[in-house]
Amino acid sequence: MREVFDIAVIGAGMAGASLAAELAPHARVLLIEAEDRPGYHTTGRSAAFWDECYGGPDIVPLTVASGPYLREHGFLSPRGGLYLGRESDAAALDAFMERFAHTGIEIHRLGRAEVAKLIPGLRPEWTGAVSEPASADIDVAGLHQQYLACASRSGVTLALRARLAAAEREGDGWRLASERGEEWRAGVLVNAAGAWADSVAALAGAKTLGIKPMLRTVVQLRTDPAPPSTLPLTLDIRGSFYFKPESGRLWLSPHDETPCDPCDAAPEELAVAEAIDRFERVVDWRIEAVERRWAGLRSFAPDRLPVYGFALEREGFFWFAGQGGFGIQTAPAAARLAAQTILGLPRDAMTDKLDAALYSPERF
Ligand SMILES: Cc1cc2nc3c(=O)[nH]c(=O)nc-3n(C[C@H](O)[C@H](O)[C@H](O)COP(=O)(O)OP(=O)(O)OC[C@H]3O[C@@H](n4cnc5c(N)ncnc54)[C@H](O)[C@@H]3O)c2cc1C
Repeated sequence: MREVFDIAVIGAGMAGASLAAELAPHARVLLIEAEDRPGYHTTGRSAAFWDECYGGPDIVPLTVASGPYLREHGFLSPRGGLYLGRESDAAALDAFMERFAHTGIEIHRLGRAEVAKLIPGLRPEWTGAVSEPASADIDVAGLHQQYLACASRSGVTLALRARLAAAEREGDGWRLASERGEEWRAGVLVNAAGAWADSVAALAGAKTLGIKPMLRTVVQLRTDPAPPSTLPLTLDIRGSFYFKPESGRLWLSPHDETPCDPCDAAPEELAVAEAIDRFERVVDWRIEAVERRWAGLRSFAPDRLPVYGFALEREGFFWFAGQGGFGIQTAPAAARLAAQTILGLPRDAMTDKLDAALYSPERF
């Protein structure tokens, strides 16, 4: 006999795990994951920062609303952020200040002398920055595990090695089947499939939204000097690199964004070389070794905002996708908002300032 659930969530990355945990006290929830461990894809490959400006002003409310939860549970460690520029970027730095002026985020314009104190060996052409003192490191694995543990304690059934292969309407719900032939029934189907979000929509007969996976690369470098533990998360105001210290090493990304089919993403040599070339133009440090390299897929809807909400044209189909480069730092508020929408619950202190229409699939 098929097991029956109120809600089936497809994908056990940060999106699916956090939403399952939020739904679990109120409903019978099934969490279906294709891989043999949750978090194998994008969630396990992030650069692990919580940066209030990242993703733009319409992402700020989600990031800010998630902050208190992340702080209370010990998932944030102070780091500080710097958006770095050359003389020719002065207008871009000013425009950045203006773009976020109404958001309530604390940001400051810094000159060369202040920036050079924060980044030893900074090359002379880097003359200014916007500093974001609240920017923090985020414990991605800790947060993901906490959501999985909460979900499990509240009775969520986790099906691993279970790639959803069929989803058909049956009565007032869904008949679901995995590639290996497991079958379930559920009232609501939630699409939290990350890079595969459009494929899952197509499988379930919902309209696809043009959610595109983009490859992003990170390298771990051993440098001389080693990065000071106080080094801020440093991002190019032009968006061509970011770096931060991690346990005595440096994590560096060329900020690449290569369109890609959904897959087990692997780093490209060219991106690694570009990252190093760009970094060497920022500081005079010596690179002793490339110790690790990895890549992951950041998925974006056409307007680069996430998609949370029921599909208009497909009954019982809920989007929780397009988490872009901010799906970890926004997870608590995003999951709470989505759970409230699915269950018809009132907003609470975490979500009452969010404008759900910004993220609704109805905008397409
Ligand atoms: C290099 C890099 C750096 C990043 N840095 C940051 C950062 O510093 N801060 C931040 O907030 N965000 C960051 N991000 C973004 C963040 O990692 C993502 O937004 C987030 O992990 C997305 O989570 P997800 O659950 O939507 O996707 P995923 O973690 O990819 O989970 C989707 C899951 O769905 C499963 N799935 C797909 N199809 C099916 C199917 N048919 N049946 C069953 N299961 C299926 C997959 O196996 C996968 O496990 C970064 C991303 C990358 C790549």
